[in-house]
Amino acid sequence: MIYVDAMHGKLARILRVFGVSCVYLTSDLTDNQIVKLLKDNDVLITSDFELSKRVKNVIYLDSKDLKTNLEKIVNSGIKLDIQNPYCYLCNVKLERIGNKYRCPSCNRFYWRGKQWGNLKKYLPSQLQEFSNT
Ligand SMILES: [Zn+2]
Repeated sequence: MIYVDAMHGKLARILRVFGVSCVYLTSDLTDNQIVKLLKDNDVLITSDFELSKRVKNVIYLDSKDLKTNLEKIVNSGIKLDIQNPYCYLCNVKLERIGNKYRCPSCNRFYWRGKQWGNLKKYLPSQLQEFSNT
C-alpha cells in the first residue's frame, strides 16, 4: 500500500484519480505511529525529512509543486493507471458506466469533463500522451 503524509492531501486525491490507490495519513498521527503502521512492502510519500530517514521504502518530496512531485513519484516506480481511477474521497475503484465513472461507495459520478481538464495539467510529462483521452 502507498501512504501519503498529511501535508499532501491534494496529491493523494490526484493520485487516486490517476489510478493509484493510496492511504492519506491524518495529521494526528505521530512519526512513531506512522513508522509502526508501515509494513515491509508499503511505500511512504512524505516531505518530512526526519521521518523519511526512518522508513525503508520512501519517496521524499522536497518540492511544493504538484506536477514536480507527481513526476518524482512516477520516476520512483509508482505506476499511474489513468484508465482505472479510484474515488478521490473513498479510495475505492470506480465502475465504468458508458463514458462516466461511478464510485460504488459514495455514489459520486465522475466524467472526463471540466474536472478532468483541471487535473490533466498535473499529469507527468511521461504520460502526456494520455492527456487527450
Ligand atoms: Zn467515493
